[in-house]
Parts: sequence; structure tokens; C-alpha cells
Amino acid sequence: MAIIASNFKTNHTRKSTNDFIENVNNFLLSNDIKEEVYVFPTATSLDYFKTVSNFTLGAQNAYATTNGSFTGEIGTEQLDEFGIKTILIGHSERRHILGESQEEIAKKFSFYSELGYKIIYCIGEPLEVKEQGLEKTLEYVYEQFVGIDTNYENLILAYEPVWAIGTGVTATNTDITSVHSAIKSKIAKPLLYGGSVKVANAHEICALDGVDGALIGTASWKVEDFKQIIENTKDL
Ligand code: PEP
Repeated sequence: MAIIASNFKTNHTRKSTNDFIENVNNFLLSNDIKEEVYVFPTATSLDYFKTVSNFTLGAQNAYATTNGSFTGEIGTEQLDEFGIKTILIGHSERRHILGESQEEIAKKFSFYSELGYKIIYCIGEPLEVKEQGLEKTLEYVYEQFVGIDTNYENLILAYEPVWAIGTGVTATNTDITSVHSAIKSKIAKPLLYGGSVKVANAHEICALDGVDGALIGTASWKVEDFKQIIENTKDL
């Protein structure tokens, strides 16, 4: 069964998130879909959604703390208020735009894994590395596992080539399967693909060998598209 996750990034309001969540939940219930579905709204839209019974809400980010003086960040005290026990760590936008180092990422990973959170851990290479070939790509990706306990039981991995994220350029099936099979040979964890997955290609990508599902940004923000992706992959 595929795992399908939506990353809202900096999109949707509290109101539209609420509508989205209700809509997806009703869809999963009325179609008796058992697929593992995750939604990562903005921090301001996290809430205790009584309606969420058939999928999991997670945080796109949080600091490695319970509380304290970390202006602009949230910690587990804020996540606990809404029963959030799932977090994205290592997303390329946090690495490359917000400047999170591997050391900080590993610290965050340790903190949240010690608390038993389900972690979706993202890795992926920028274009200049991809252009140097598979060996360099894998070298780069393996560096992103430094300090990470890859045996952690509540871990899902997401391979997201940076050049494919939000660009409309999806990796080819060969790109995806070669990286996925290499990672899978070292780490026995569910491995999602992310990078311009959309309604038209979700089934084909999720059906590839070594692909256990998709982490989706842009194409998941429209609820009808997100539901269609779930529908298209539900029998895998
Ligand atoms: C992402 O942000 O994780 C992502 C894969 O984005 P997009 O689907 O827009 O490429």
C-alpha cells in the first residue's frame, strides 16, 4: 500500500486547512481507503482536529526543544497541545533556503526520535551534484545520513532531488529507481519519492520498484488533486 503525504509548505490559511482536512477525511471514510496518508499544514494551522480519524497530521518543522527562548520556533509543548507526534525533518527547503546544517538536522532527529515521533526524513541532491552522475549523487545523499539513526523504528525516508522540487521537472523512472535501490540496499525503511509528483504521474511513480509512496508539495494543495492522487494509488 502506498504512503501519500502532503506538504503544504507556506500555503493555506487556518480556514482553508480546516476545509481541506474535513474534505480529505470524508473522502477517505466514504471510500473506505486504508492508504497511509499524512498532511503537514503550516504551524499556524495546526489544531486539534476532531474530524481527523483516517490520516495523520504532522508538523513541517519544530525546534529540538520542549519550550524556551527560540524566537520564531515551536517545540513539543506546542505540538502536544494538538496531539502532533509526526514531523518532517531535513526537507531541502530547510537545508538550502533556511540554512539548516546536517549537525542541526541530526540534533533535531535525535530529539524527536527519543520522544518516539514518526519522522519523515528527507534527503536529496542539488542539480550540480546530479550532473556529476549517480556515484556523486549517492555520496551526497549518504552524507545526509550522518548522525541519523537509520534503524529508528518510526522512520520513513523521502528521496527528494532538489532540482525536482517545485520545478515541474520530475526525475525519470531510472533516476528514481537507481537512487531508491541504492538507499534500500543500505536502509530497510519505507522510502517515498518527492519532486513534482502530480495526478498524471503519481501512480506510475508509486508503482516503481523501491518506491513506497510519495511526498507531494504543489500538486497536493488543491484538495481535488490530492484526493485524486490518493485514489490513483490506493490499490498499489
Ligand atoms: C516537497 O516540497 O516535498 C515537494 C516534493 O514539492 P513539489 O511536489 O512541489 O515538488
